[in-house]
Amino acid sequence: LPKRVQQFQEPSVWLEFSPLSSLCNAINLGQGFPDWKPPPFVLEAASKASSDPHFSQYARSSGLQSLVSTISRTYAPLLQRSIDPTKEVCVTVGASEAIFLACQAFVESGDEVIFIEPAFDIYFGAVVYAGATPRWVPLHMQPKEGQPLSASDLRLDYDELRSVLSERSRLLILNTPHNPTGKVFKKEELQAIAKVLQDFPRCLVLCDEVYQHLVYDDEVHVPMATIDNMWERTISVYSAGKTFSVTGWKIGWAIGPWHLIRPMMLSQQWIVFSTTTPLQQAVASSLEQATQPFESEPTYYAWLKKRYQRKRDYFYQALIEAGLHPVKPQGSFFIMIDISEIQDIRNEMPPAIMEWWKRGLLDVDQRTQTAVDYNFCRWQAVEKGVTAIPFSAFYSRHHQPLGSRYVRFSFCKEDAVLEEAKQRLVPHH
Ligand code: PMP
Ligand code: GLN
Repeated sequence: LPKRVQQFQEPSVWLEFSPLSSLCNAINLGQGFPDWKPPPFVLEAASKASSDPHFSQYARSSGLQSLVSTISRTYAPLLQRSIDPTKEVCVTVGASEAIFLACQAFVESGDEVIFIEPAFDIYFGAVVYAGATPRWVPLHMQPKEGQPLSASDLRLDYDELRSVLSERSRLLILNTPHNPTGKVFKKEELQAIAKVLQDFPRCLVLCDEVYQHLVYDDEVHVPMATIDNMWERTISVYSAGKTFSVTGWKIGWAIGPWHLIRPMMLSQQWIVFSTTTPLQQAVASSLEQATQPFESEPTYYAWLKKRYQRKRDYFYQALIEAGLHPVKPQGSFFIMIDISEIQDIRNEMPPAIMEWWKRGLLDVDQRTQTAVDYNFCRWQAVEKGVTAIPFSAFYSRHHQPLGSRYVRFSFCKEDAVLEEAKQRLVPHH
């Protein structure tokens, strides 16, 4: 096997924990996907587009005209500029392919890519497949005296960021709202990052904003591309999956200046060529309709935000009542739990899991057999029937201990499911 492939001969956390959840009949608060139906206007748009023969053939390689036009109109206010639909937008197979394409288009062997740790794990694959070397800068938890933990207490040390940057740095991957912590980067934080980057003009930024609509309390989502002088070096990435609760559709898009989008468009021709046509049309139509009143709210986005805010509030409280230590998220649909004070964690694989693994019903990354957060999540799935994701999956190899004191829950579930999860999580002594 080629060297780059040899690095991926163990299953990812998703390949263990989603099947494990099913085997245990557990409530799956692991992999993040909503368990409710997408809104009716989204489903109708899909059925209309898929029964229209007009949308049955290959789309324009970098995106169906109707979709890129809608994206250019929809994102002009957020990005505070006009966006050229044919030159500054590239539609991809989910945000995942946008990330992959950006790496294919801009990085190679000898280049370094900076990750802010913890980081969504797919970045690692995209960077390694492009032949580049990941460099990691951790977020540090700096709790405020006498206050409950919040994702806003996770801070980047800008000197540390500077220390990993060099002329080899080609790309910095930023994610706000952030998976897996729920942190929302403030404008001042983005400005501070941009300031450090001024001294490294070769380094581009990929700003993953798939959770752009999921921000709580008074937080606002700020794209890196709107910070002074950053448009020219930033690729902004979005996904219909999160916005319209259709994670299975895998339609995403990248927006940026022509000199960054064009190499991605040209790479796209040789990778997937184009993305599924009827679903692109359905997303175009959904983006058009999302600004209309929905369920007594002024827009679909307002409704979505309100729904998630309520779930965030409810589940955060539920976890406290269950005796756990959640870190309050400011955005996304994830919530991190500090497990470091839980006394009786058995740091070994549950026998049932060993058995499923032996019988080939489950695939396990053997390097995680003694990882305390993995084993905590495994016992929770087997004994309590609630699945979470071990946090060290989002850390580099040598920073695993930083991650292993947390686990991640997703709260993109119906209220009754969250309530049932709470009941199951309450300790029974
Ligand atoms: N970025 C982040 C931060 C995510 O959580 C996800 C969800 N899987 C993605 C990108 C990928 O999005 P998509 O499903 O559109 O490929
Ligand atoms: N982004 C989702 C999560 O973090 C899904 C991950 C995946 O499917 N690889 O849970």
